[in-house]
Amino acid sequence: MGFDLSEEHTALSVALAQLKLAAQKLELNSGIHKMLSQPKRSIAVSIDIRLDNGAIGVFNGVRVQHWDVRGPFKGGIRYYPNITQDEVTALSMLMTWKCAIADIPYGGAKGGICVDSKKLSKHELERLTRRYVSLIVEYLGPHRDIPAPDMYTDAQTMAWIMDTYSQLKGYMVPECVTGKPVEVGGSEGRTEATGRGVVHCVKEAAQNMNLKLKGATVAIQGFGNVGYHAAVAANEVGSKVVAVSDSTGAIYNPNGLNPAAVLEHKEKTGSVQNFKGCINITNEDLLETECDVLIPAAMENQITCKNADKIRAKLVAEAANGPTTPEADKCLNEKGIVLIPDILANCGGVTVSYFEWVQNLTREHWTLQEVNRKLETKMTRAFDDVFALSQKEKSDLRTAALMLGVGRVANAIKVLGLWP
Ligand code: NAD
Repeated sequence: MGFDLSEEHTALSVALAQLKLAAQKLELNSGIHKMLSQPKRSIAVSIDIRLDNGAIGVFNGVRVQHWDVRGPFKGGIRYYPNITQDEVTALSMLMTWKCAIADIPYGGAKGGICVDSKKLSKHELERLTRRYVSLIVEYLGPHRDIPAPDMYTDAQTMAWIMDTYSQLKGYMVPECVTGKPVEVGGSEGRTEATGRGVVHCVKEAAQNMNLKLKGATVAIQGFGNVGYHAAVAANEVGSKVVAVSDSTGAIYNPNGLNPAAVLEHKEKTGSVQNFKGCINITNEDLLETECDVLIPAAMENQITCKNADKIRAKLVAEAANGPTTPEADKCLNEKGIVLIPDILANCGGVTVSYFEWVQNLTREHWTLQEVNRKLETKMTRAFDDVFALSQKEKSDLRTAALMLGVGRVANAIKVLGLWP
């Protein structure tokens, strides 16, 4: 049984095909399958702000709340010019499964504003963020829906969200949002959590494949937040990062490179390319590099039917969301390449977001060591749960992860029943 690839796919059609696959495998009640195919609530808003030049800017925003039977809605807010309601709906659905796989008490949500954030000043972005929050405030809250950063939003955006929500309530509510600066209740270790989590999954998978990580070669596409921290964590377990890339191109050194030095070079020159001791290669070359582990950590649809048969890694860990198309997924599977799916590999970010929320609710602040230790425990358990199910079902890890996530949510619906 596989994905239905007959239709032209969008993020939403892929998400729905994944849900259908899990529902079939789980022999899910058709009513529950139908319930989970739709978000519980979609809020579309028009965000009007005063621009710096005195004109009025009108932007479209959305918050999609998929399902919350396991706990409050949780998910990022992205600022992106061509964002669509369907895309946000698909991402909200993936968040529901991701939180269930990580076994943290949240449902899934996602939000977005159609905006090219690079074209707005910092003051305009602040007004945009605050106005957006004011329009959806009654649907947010530490026990309702807790936003987090996503593409082109950051800790500063989260601080504005926390302040706006708190001003409207009349008291400070740090637990209403995660990914905040540490000064206002952010967690230690949140920035590096996703990259570190990816490597925890790689460690577990490698053990099951009898792949020695000490000395193993790793190629990483994307040298942003996730890619950089995955490179650091890969180095920490003794692997050699032989290639990295950003939107300007890629670099390769068979002897391994030092992530911190590459970052310094990128900050100085604006690119990873021309780093001493490395040869410049293209982004296509990076994906096809001979290596043990390939970590796509940039964006969606990077491994496609055009390059899947040229991938030479033994293990692919999807740090980015949706980097592999369904056709490519099938091709990698047929080639015997093990793939750790996004909903498992990158759940370290939302896991430490959950730790931040717990710290805020209990008015505690954990040390970095404590956060990292708890992250490792959670990631290892999530991987092991998915792996055990894949063994039992004789399925690939993506199918098992979907079955685990969808199954946990469906069980919660069954236990709660339908009111009235
Ligand atoms: P980021 O913006 O910090 O970094 C993205 C990197 O990708 C940049 O280095 C950019 O130059 C590079 N890039 C862009 N286009 C590229 C291309 N065509 N080829 C190679 N590199 C390219 O973003 P991030 O936070 O690191 O997120 C990366 C991915 O991980 C996204 O898919 C995101 O949804 C996913 N993710 C992030 C988190 C998190 O905690 N940040 C959590 C879960 C999933």
